[in-house]
Formats: sequence, structure tokens, C-alpha cells
Amino acid sequence: MGNSCCCIFIKPKLDRISTVQECDATMLSIVRQAYYQKAGHKKLQTLVTDNIDMGDTSESFIAKSTLKANDLEHRRKINFNIGKYNAVVPIGKQQFNNVGLARERAKNLKWKAIEALDEYLQEFEAAFTKRGGKVIWAEDAKQALDEILAICKEKNCKSIVKSKSMVTEEIKLNHFLEENKIESVETDLGEYIQQLDNEPPYHIVTPAMHKSKEDVAKLFHEKLNTDINLTPQELTLVAREKLREKYTKAEIGITGANFIIADTGAIAVTENEGNARLSCAFPKTHIAITGIEKVIPSLTDLNLFWPLLSTYGTGQQLTVYNTIIAGPKQSGEADGPEEMYVILLDNGRTNILANEKSRESLYCIRCGACLNACPVYKNIGGHSYEATYSGPIGAVITPQLQNLGEWKHLSYASSLCGNCTEVCAVKINLHELLLENRHEAVEEGDATWQEKIAWKVWKQSSLSRKMMNLGNRKIKNWMVNKVFKGWTAHRADLDFSSKTFNELWKEKKK
Ligand code: SF4
Repeated sequence: MGNSCCCIFIKPKLDRISTVQECDATMLSIVRQAYYQKAGHKKLQTLVTDNIDMGDTSESFIAKSTLKANDLEHRRKINFNIGKYNAVVPIGKQQFNNVGLARERAKNLKWKAIEALDEYLQEFEAAFTKRGGKVIWAEDAKQALDEILAICKEKNCKSIVKSKSMVTEEIKLNHFLEENKIESVETDLGEYIQQLDNEPPYHIVTPAMHKSKEDVAKLFHEKLNTDINLTPQELTLVAREKLREKYTKAEIGITGANFIIADTGAIAVTENEGNARLSCAFPKTHIAITGIEKVIPSLTDLNLFWPLLSTYGTGQQLTVYNTIIAGPKQSGEADGPEEMYVILLDNGRTNILANEKSRESLYCIRCGACLNACPVYKNIGGHSYEATYSGPIGAVITPQLQNLGEWKHLSYASSLCGNCTEVCAVKINLHELLLENRHEAVEEGDATWQEKIAWKVWKQSSLSRKMMNLGNRKIKNWMVNKVFKGWTAHRADLDFSSKTFNELWKEKKK
């Protein structure tokens, strides 16, 4: 456990913990203590389940993160899976003559697309509708859901097959469809596992990354009554078998889109299992729902984006299935849906667009590399964030997409080591954007009075050599470790030097 993730760890207390069971018991008591001090009335049981609602997102985040960071079995699984990813990414990168230049070019292309987003989206709409497609502009989740429901009612739809899409997670589509008595089945294997387990995706690329093959076998055994000793291949076959009839029965198929191609009026979908192709080819109606930021200027840009996404997402040179869909079935074509809709979702993205500094976060191609590289994500896992988008990119965009006041704590869930920026496929300055969120939060008055006073005192002291030299080690240690308890609540005690900087400097100059 590194000090780098000091914002959430309770280091001195953890040093005494040696087993998961012991850890859970000890951590629960610490978290209980901390939480009862604030909320008092909540039951601990609700805290340890994955569905806790503590009212305050930052309290809940700290509680969940604290527990997860001490779950050694969780850490073992994540390290195992991320280790496999780390082994293949350098191999994937070998396909580029100059991978740095490729990332730079991709960033420039996304800059071009985002700076003229309105024009590119209209270009897409014009070309797409020319081929019989229908475009729906949705300002927020509610509008998108209402539109989907209206289409479902028109088609008398009872069941939907769905391929993996983070935007549908963002608008909580499955839950909404269930409420409206429409069956919605995830067809991506990872998403299918998560749906069976009634859990949201854990990672934007690998939804069930936190589960071992034994976990999946157990889940299938419990939910589908299969043999508990099935191998991953056998489990895949079971899922395939279950899903096959769903494809043929479903009236509507829903997919996301990895890219919106402006000049061709098409969407591009990238996947490894072929389930997205089936989801949009079998049903008579295809709805693709995508964030407006997914736009790229031209079809030829896929030359760059496809290999980049594959390499940074999974270490592959190219993902197995890359599909370009430019509208419904045309006359003379043998397959494809009779009707196709693309829902262009804003849901807070134009707020980011309006913010000159954060705008860069709209370049994200959701490769997931920053999650895999983040020391905080690797310790607390994807679910602790309680947001659709986790890890560094989630910590940047969630406060911007939703509410800075409520979600700003995510921007503090970083050691600012810069590893996320280092690995980003499109070179987004993620760690600087985290700082920008913190800055904006303070500017908006989202700082406690203790914090404001602390920084004022610190500023005054730093500007005065006399004040810097005031007090001895004992007093300074007492001030920081006992008076400003916020520091030591989650970190080891500070131990000041017995000599001031002035004294050390003088000694050095002797
Ligand atoms: S921010 Fe960069 S590294 Fe993270 S998911 Fe987006 S493109 Fe990938």
C-alpha cells in the first residue's frame, strides 16, 4: 500500500491487519466510527453491501474505497488481470512506427472534431438521414429514455438485445426498460455476467474484470444451474446458447457507437465477440445511442483510431470485429435492420465543451488504459466510484457531467502521479484536469472553512521567514497531527525536522 494514494488510506491502522477477515472487521469498525460520527443513524449493514446509499456521495466513496482497498483477494484478481493487459500492450504498440506521433495525431483529430462539433454532427445527420436513418437529439437521459420508450411502444417491443455500451449505463437504460416491462438482455459476455450478478460494469472495457473464472463458474451455477466446474470455454458456450434465441426473438437491438463518422454519415462499432453485429442485424429495428463527443471528421480517420483503440484497450493490433453501419437495410441488400435510429446524447457534454480547460476530456475514446494504469483504481476498484465512468477519466468527467459540488471528491482520488496522462491513447492531460476540477470546486466555494483557514495560515507563514522559523518540532507535529486531524485521519503522522530550513541552510553554507 503506497503513500501515493494517501487520500483514502488509513495507513497506521492497516499496518496491524494481516488477513482479509481481520481486515474487514477492523476496517468496518473504523469506517463505522467515521461514518456514525457524521450520519449517526445509518446501519452498518447497508454500508457493506454494494448497494449502499449513504446520502452523501463522498462519504459513501470513502467508505467503499476503504473497504475495497483492504480486500486482498480483490487486489489479487485485479493485479492478475491488469498484469495480463500490461504484458500484451507493448506487443500491440509494435505495429506503430512512432506510437507517440500516432497519439499526437489522434489528439489533433479529436481537437479538430470537438472544436467544430456542431458542424460535424450536422454533417453526420445529413449523410445518415439521406440513407434512411433517423437521428434523435437528446439533451439529457430522460429525453433519450422517453424516445427509446416511444420507439418500443410503436414496435410493440417486448424484448431487446443489447450490446455493450457505457452510454446506456449512463442513462440507466436496463433499469428503465425493466420498469416498463421490456426485457433487455446484455449480449457482451462480460456485461452478461454483470447483468446476471445484478452489478454495474466494473471497468469501461472489461466489465467483469474483478471476477475470476471461479467466480463466474459459481455465478453461472447459482443463476443458470450449470456445473460449478465448467471451464471458461464451456461457460462461454453456455452464454452463447442462452443468448442465441434472444437474438431471434428480440424486436429491437440496441448498441453504442465507438465513433460517429461525420463525412460518411455512419457509426463504427468495435468488439471482440460479434454480439454487437448480431444485435443490430437480427432485430428489425436498430437503435444506436452515443455521446455527441464520439464524432470523428472522416472515415479515413479510422485508419488511426481503430489500431489505437485496440492497442490501448486490449493490446490487440486490431479488435476482432469492426463494423461500420451507415443506416438501415437498403433495397437489394440481404440483411440489416429495416429501421435504424441514432440517438445523439448530450447529458452534460456541452457543459464540458463550454469549459475551455476541461474540453480536452471530450477527446476520450474510452480505451480504459488510464484505469489500468491508475494506482488508486487498482486499489479501490471500479465500483467504489459509484459513477458510470470510473478511474482517472471518470474522476475528470463525472464532476463536470453531473455536479461539481457533489462529485468533486473524485478529483481528489488521485496521487497526481501522472501515469494516466502518460498512458492515454489520445494524450489527454488527465492529472492536470483533475487539478483543474479541484481549482474550480474551490472557486465555486466548495471548500470547508477549516480548509480555507488552513490555506490562509499556510500562505501567511510561507511568505514570512520569521513565521516559518517559529515553533519547534514538537509544536509543529502537534499542530498538524492533533489539531488538523483531517490530515491524520487517513495518513500516517507527519514528523517535522527538528531544525528549521533556515538552520539547515546556514549549516550547509558553513
Ligand atoms: S482518458 Fe485516455 S486513457 Fe483514459 S479511457 Fe480515455 S482515451 Fe483511454
